[in-house]
Amino acid sequence: MSERRVAIVTGAARGIGAAIARRLAADDYIVLLACRDSQKGETVAAECREHGVDALVVAGDVTCAEDCSTLVKTAIGHYGRIDLLVNNAGITRDNLLVRMKPEEWDEVLRTDLTAVYMMMRLVTPYMLRARRGRVVNITSVAGITGNAGQANYAAAKAGVIGLTKSAAKELGSRGILINAVAPGFIETDMTKDLPEKQAKAALDHVSLRRFGKPEEIAAVVSFLASDAASYITGQVIVADGGLAL
Ligand code: NDP
Repeated sequence: MSERRVAIVTGAARGIGAAIARRLAADDYIVLLACRDSQKGETVAAECREHGVDALVVAGDVTCAEDCSTLVKTAIGHYGRIDLLVNNAGITRDNLLVRMKPEEWDEVLRTDLTAVYMMMRLVTPYMLRARRGRVVNITSVAGITGNAGQANYAAAKAGVIGLTKSAAKELGSRGILINAVAPGFIETDMTKDLPEKQAKAALDHVSLRRFGKPEEIAAVVSFLASDAASYITGQVIVADGGLAL
C-alpha cells in the first residue's frame, strides 16, 4: 500500500478539476485524474508530477457505471487506498423550463448528480474499511438559490447538497467526512461563452466585482481535505465572491 495519500478527481482535464488536481499534488497527494479526454488529462498529470508525486490518468465517463468501477479499481490496484474523492465533473445544458427537452434534463441529472452518487457508492466501502476518508462534492450556488434557465442544473446541484448532508450523517461515526463546495462564477470554459451583457449583469451581483479563479476553488477543496478540517462534515462552503448574499 502506498504511504502517500491518494485522491481521485473527476473531470480533471481542465477548469476547476485541473486546478484541484494540481493543488492536491502540491499538497503531496497521489492524484488519479478521471478524464474523458486522456490526452488533455496527461498534460495536467505532467504538471502534477512536477510536485514529485505520482499522477495517473484514467480514461472514462462518469455517467458510465463500468467506467466508475474501473476508476476505483485502478486506484486500489495501483496504490491500495483512496483517501479523498473529489466529485467535480459537471455539465450545463441551459434552457427555460418550458423548452427544456427531456434529454437536456436527463444528461445533466446523470452527470451532475447520479455520477456523484455512483462514485460515492463505489469509494466509501474502502474508506469504511480504513475507518477514514474525505469526500468533497462540487455543487454550485445555483443549487442553493436556483437560477432561471438552469432548472436541470440547479436541481442536480441541490441534489448533491442533499446527498452530501445525508452521507455525512451516515458515515461520520466511521471517520468519513463529506462536504460540498458551492462556487459562484468561476473563469472556466463553462462560463467563457456567457454573453458580455449577461456577464456584466452577473458581476453587478458579485460583491468582489470579479469572477473567481479555479485555483480559488481548489484552495477550498485543499482545506476540506486537510487535517485542519477534521471537525467539519456535511457542510456546503460557498466560494462565490459574495454572489449569494
Ligand atoms: P468545465 O466545463 O471547464 O470542465 C468540466 C469538466 O468535467 C471537464 O473536464 C469535462 O471533461 C468533465 N466532464 C463533464 N462531463 C463528464 C463526464 N460525463 N465524464 C467525465 N468527465 C466529465 O467546467 P468547470 O471546471 O467550470 O466546472 C467544474 C465543476 O464546477 C462542475 O461540477 C460545475 O458544475 C461546477 N461549477 C462551476 C462553476 C463555474 O462558474 N465555472 C460555478 C459553479 C459550479 P471533458 O474535458 O472531457 O469535457
